[in-house]
Amino acid sequence: MMNDRAVGSPKVYELHEGVYAVIGLYHISGSIGTNAGIIMTPDSVVFIDSGMTISSAEFLWRVAQDHMSGNEDLYLILTHHHSDHVFGMRVLREKGVRVIAHSGVREYLDDPDGKYLEFVKSLMRCGPEEAKEILGDVRLTVPEQLIDNDTVLKVGTEIHLLATPGHVPSELSVYHPSSKTLFAGDTIFSEGSPTTRFGGPDDWRLWISHLERLRQMDIATICPGHGELCTIDEIQRNIDSLNETLPRRRLWRK
Ligand SMILES: [Zn+2]
Repeated sequence: MMNDRAVGSPKVYELHEGVYAVIGLYHISGSIGTNAGIIMTPDSVVFIDSGMTISSAEFLWRVAQDHMSGNEDLYLILTHHHSDHVFGMRVLREKGVRVIAHSGVREYLDDPDGKYLEFVKSLMRCGPEEAKEILGDVRLTVPEQLIDNDTVLKVGTEIHLLATPGHVPSELSVYHPSSKTLFAGDTIFSEGSPTTRFGGPDDWRLWISHLERLRQMDIATICPGHGELCTIDEIQRNIDSLNETLPRRRLWRK
């Protein structure tokens, strides 16, 4: 039975024919939600992130299944290794997806003893039993395909995997040119401030440079990793916010 609490309050948007954004899946914080995407063609179904809970991934599967013939090739792109984006991966893996991510995820997802899962449970304010119930039977595995640089996936439509480090070094953004949709993972935060605690000033400068790059692209809709759908205007707000986070440069005077 579906555990409502473990799914969150997801809303499904069809942004373009066969392109879906799922906004507001469960998140540990209770205040923000987790987002994911699905791109469908007659030949393939591409999931972008798998939610934080087993129930979230089951929800994503049901959204896709309603529009599938059953003969499609299946893919899952992970935007980065954080629990809120990958903990549902077992569900989609058991459906037969080929998992693709940046090579930097390997050290976190190669976790046969479940240490990452235990760590995340320890962050949850509820007790261990409740945490287990909410997260479900999480099992992490190393993706079949690990990439280091921008990569084009041709699956009946072109999907551009863009290496956009900053939030974490393994961050990917996923651009679908034919619908002008950017699934940004945690490269872009709509509404709130970008989460900078995983890096330092050098990472944030790199992050800004990649946001500048994304801002030049032809984007109609951004599905961020958290928060509501947004437009390209949100990129400048993220750049400004990161610039404010950077330590002030010392100005030398003669
Ligand atoms: Zn996140």
